[in-house]
Amino acid sequence: MLHDVAIVGAGPVGATLALSLADGDLDVVVLDARARGETLRGERSLALSHGARLILERCGVWPMLAGVMEAVTPILAIDVSQAGGFGMTRLAAAEHSLPALGYVVSYRALQAALDAALAHAGIAVRHGVTATSVGGTPAYAAVALEGADPVTARLAAVADGTGAAVAGVGRQRHDYGQVALVAKLWRPVPHSGVAYERFTRDGPIALLPEGDHYGLVWTMTPGRAEEMLALDDAAFVAALERHFGARTGGFTRIKDRRSFPLMLEFARATVGTRCVVLGNAAQTLHPVAGQGFNVGLRDAAGLAQAVLDSSREAIGSRAMLEAYARSRRTDRWAGIAFTHGLVGVFGSDLPWLRWPRGLALTLLDTLPVAKRAFTRAMMFGLR
Ligand SMILES: Cc1cc2nc3c(=O)[nH]c(=O)nc-3n(C[C@H](O)[C@H](O)[C@H](O)COP(=O)(O)OP(=O)(O)OC[C@H]3O[C@@H](n4cnc5c(N)ncnc54)[C@H](O)[C@@H]3O)c2cc1C
Repeated sequence: MLHDVAIVGAGPVGATLALSLADGDLDVVVLDARARGETLRGERSLALSHGARLILERCGVWPMLAGVMEAVTPILAIDVSQAGGFGMTRLAAAEHSLPALGYVVSYRALQAALDAALAHAGIAVRHGVTATSVGGTPAYAAVALEGADPVTARLAAVADGTGAAVAGVGRQRHDYGQVALVAKLWRPVPHSGVAYERFTRDGPIALLPEGDHYGLVWTMTPGRAEEMLALDDAAFVAALERHFGARTGGFTRIKDRRSFPLMLEFARATVGTRCVVLGNAAQTLHPVAGQGFNVGLRDAAGLAQAVLDSSREAIGSRAMLEAYARSRRTDRWAGIAFTHGLVGVFGSDLPWLRWPRGLALTLLDTLPVAKRAFTRAMMFGLR
């Protein structure tokens, strides 16, 4: 049986794609390796832009998510600064007449809301099914499955988080030689929706408001992370406060410290014969700018639009896939280049970089047009 679209991976990006196709009177099959009700990466929090919220609203997921206690924390302002240098800027939602600049969302709650929306829309997900390879002929795509018959479709959309299921997609990998040290932190006073991004000698530190606490993401070398993880809670908090200065008002408690390696990994081409990779399978970005998930959701929305704009016969055709890839090129490369550039400029401890980056922050703060353009690009991407 030839389906119209086979989606490999019903994580946040694959599920959003399936929901965005729901009104299209199409035969869509969704496959996911995880068991029904299981959530991978449940401990993770995702940084969502305002534009990403609009995508989730369009597929009916946002109201479900927003109704879950502490699943969504609005970011009302972002305070950006650097240690040991001048320059500071504050991006505020109110300046852009928006309810929030972005949101911190629990991966577990988002996945549960997406699963419920898929069930509500009558989209069946085949859980516990692992794709071992995805290949294409000019006529159809074939998804080979572990212990089950292959699935064929006009188009295979791979959102498996790594792109590992697709044969022959050239990938580029850059190891930053850094790790992200993450933890949960509590302050004596409520966070009021203010996020902090501070560039320090040891690497960028982000504090994101999450429920009643802050989520810490601190980028550093693996050796330094080992030392920091070995400290007791009080010594760790003292070290963090030294880097952060007085801007947050200190911390009272810390929990769940851990670290993971940071890479930039991307597919050189996102489309092949009858197949496309999207989301983290297409690009896995450094978390410094919180762009990865947002670019992934825009992949899903863009691909759904390209499929819905095609006749059934044209789904998965070379012309359709090339038009989709063209429509995503600027935003995707901008996300990759912006994130990579930010790591280079702000992750570096070269003293001569401190001055220009201080100037950039000051200019951003004093030039409303530049600030608006920067904020809009962070929220909606580049087209
Ligand atoms: C280590 C790490 C930490 C991160 N931390 C943050 C963070 O703090 N904040 C943030 O905003 N973003 C973070 N990200 C990015 C964020 O997790 C991703 O942007 C988001 O998960 C992408 O969603 P996705 O649907 O593309 O992939 P995933 O979330 O990886 O979902 C992939 C889905 O595909 C399924 N699958 C996998 N392989 C197969 C297969 N062979 N066959 C069938 N199904 C399969 C999986 O079961 C899963 O459901 C992080 C990423 C990494 C790698």
